[in-house]
Amino acid sequence: MRQNLGDANLDYQENGSFELFSLEDDLFQTCSDKLSYVNQLLQPIFKEDVFSVTNNSFGFKNIKEQYVFNQFEGQINTGKMMATLLQLVHTLGVKIVNNVEVKDCVSFENGAEITLKDGFRFRTAKVLITTNGFASQFLEEDVKPARAQVLITKPIQNLHIKGTFHFDEGYYYFRNIDNRILFGGGRNLDFKAEETTIMETSALIQEKLEALLQSTILPNTTFEIDHRWTGIMGVGKQKKAIVKEVSPNVYCGVRLGGMGVAIGSLVGKELAELVL
Ligand SMILES: Cc1cc2nc3c(=O)[nH]c(=O)nc-3n(C[C@H](O)[C@H](O)[C@H](O)COP(=O)(O)OP(=O)(O)OC[C@H]3O[C@@H](n4cnc5c(N)ncnc54)[C@H](O)[C@@H]3O)c2cc1C
Repeated sequence: MRQNLGDANLDYQENGSFELFSLEDDLFQTCSDKLSYVNQLLQPIFKEDVFSVTNNSFGFKNIKEQYVFNQFEGQINTGKMMATLLQLVHTLGVKIVNNVEVKDCVSFENGAEITLKDGFRFRTAKVLITTNGFASQFLEEDVKPARAQVLITKPIQNLHIKGTFHFDEGYYYFRNIDNRILFGGGRNLDFKAEETTIMETSALIQEKLEALLQSTILPNTTFEIDHRWTGIMGVGKQKKAIVKEVSPNVYCGVRLGGMGVAIGSLVGKELAELVL
């Protein structure tokens, strides 16, 4: 993605990431015990230690004083990323048709037939299914929707938090966007209810996000919530994308496991190579 779109167009910043740990369990010990083993595994790729233990310097409360730091993790502006990607593909002559729902896809020996929601049908040589969390509509593969709920604060004066942060085994994540905090997660509060493609927030999760923002992330700061929204991830038993031919002339690149910003470009490339 960085090669295709350019760091400036992504507003790419390598501020690192921090894994925060609860006071209530032993997860910090379990993770720090494995640090040198994981660093050793990653040494051939990064040539340096990826993870280290550092001290809480952001004023977070109700967490362990130490956390695990990843010096290489970066953050981007996904709005700028999408705008740049769309501009690029338009210049390459790709036609994008929005707000058209596919109802069915049937494979033939020398092509496939698509049926749209309004009943319109057309034939095409190849179909690539990339609807990720929505893909069970067309596929038998192991991929389920996982809704992720998010909120963002209004701008906060003198915000000192910079970087990306995770806690509770990655079920919560937050980052600064300029002088705001974007905070999401909490799917583990009710896995079953969040296994959905319905784009609605729930009181259970939004209230928990707000409470954690107040108690842990911004304990000494007055803030207001500006927006709340949801998105749908595609998950399964394995944290590995499914890139394969599912029937003659029909292919899929799905189950991006909540990592599609990071790995989507590579999955797209692999899928294109498979089709070509
Ligand atoms: C809140 C949140 C935070 C995330 N944070 C990160 C992160 O920090 N890092 C990271 O790497 N990833 C992150 N992800 C995951 C990442 O956003 C996804 O993995 C990525 O968007 C997947 O891209 P995709 O194009 O495969 O699928 P999507 O972006 O889900 O696109 C699928 C598209 O298919 C359309 N569609 C569905 N059904 C049909 C149909 N029948 N007919 C026509 N169109 C259809 C949908 O409307 C949608 O536009 C996050 C996701 C969420 C929701």
